[in-house]
Amino acid sequence: KCSRQDVPHSIINLLDGFKASKTLFTASKLKVFDVLNSSESLTLEEVAGQINASVLGTERLLEAAVSLGLLERVKQRDTTVYRNTEQASRFLVSDSPMSLHGYILHCNDMVWPLFSHLENAVVEGISQHERAFGKKNEDVFQDAYYSKDEVKIRFMDAMHSIARVTGKDVATAFDLSSYKTACDIGGCTGAMAYELTKAHPGLSVIVFDLPQVIEMRRHFKPKEEDDMVSFVAGDFFKDDLPKADLYILARILHDWSDEKLHVLLSKLSKMCTPGCGLLVSEIFLDEERKRPSRALLQALSMTEGKQRSTTEYSDLLEKHGFTLRHIQHTDNLLDAMLFVKEDPNDKRT
Ligand code: SAM
Repeated sequence: KCSRQDVPHSIINLLDGFKASKTLFTASKLKVFDVLNSSESLTLEEVAGQINASVLGTERLLEAAVSLGLLERVKQRDTTVYRNTEQASRFLVSDSPMSLHGYILHCNDMVWPLFSHLENAVVEGISQHERAFGKKNEDVFQDAYYSKDEVKIRFMDAMHSIARVTGKDVATAFDLSSYKTACDIGGCTGAMAYELTKAHPGLSVIVFDLPQVIEMRRHFKPKEEDDMVSFVAGDFFKDDLPKADLYILARILHDWSDEKLHVLLSKLSKMCTPGCGLLVSEIFLDEERKRPSRALLQALSMTEGKQRSTTEYSDLLEKHGFTLRHIQHTDNLLDAMLFVKEDPNDKRT
């Protein structure tokens, strides 16, 4: 009986992974999914014409996208046409409500160049912004993302797209009916705030973020007016935080070291009276720090942050007087934990 050669499929998949990512990025950047959405199905030549690209290059891109399940190729009478798969229509067309387009462009234009310097990042143990973009950055937001309007909008688009995909699941993860006022710290475009007010009628939400971000808020306003959402500009390391009975930290804690977080969390703890809630939304690592690997891959290009498990988040917050009440694994891109500020007198008894 002849034995078959061992084939290391998982390694081969990893070898090719970057080609698949770049195929998705390029098709998104060249607006392939958008042009197919506006005409439902197009021939190769029509797609090439609409994206201003060569027929040969477009054919290779479309064929690769078909093989990855992003597009479909069908015969209509004597002609072969391409069209979006259902997933592409929902998540890749740039103006669909659940579009990941903004995040994909951020991955292409910001994360990809950083990852091309991964060797240096590992050897030096520092972020590669300077090598990739020729700019030193002390604070990734103020120095890298917000120093140019074009980069700022791209970053905000990226945050907005992830927040819209995850927002509803996070906003409905817990019973928040006892809270009347919330403050979304580092709430960026307000995407999560709008989901919160939709899910919890009567709750008003203040979005607190840097002035450079808050000044762009009208860009991201939903079609329907929502006067339960308001915006306050400030620096969460330096300025006073708005008063609220529920605070949200969505994708904030992973960006900073424990030392930096101590500054923010001490301030937050002082603002909170007993019973105040704190909702943390992040990718939670399992206790062995093995999964999800998405979290660990993201950490490779971090400046000073780190990914943490639910126990690590809970230890960090307990030091500031917050007690863990619930953990919700949402099966979406982000999970959530709900903490409550303790009454220090209760602790002593
Ligand atoms: N919470 C949003 C979400 O989940 O989509 C955005 C998360 S984004 C990774 C981090 C946010 O923190 C950005 O909107 C950024 O502008 C904000 N931020 C960073 N440093 C800040 C600071 N010092 N003060 C206030 N906001 C800050």
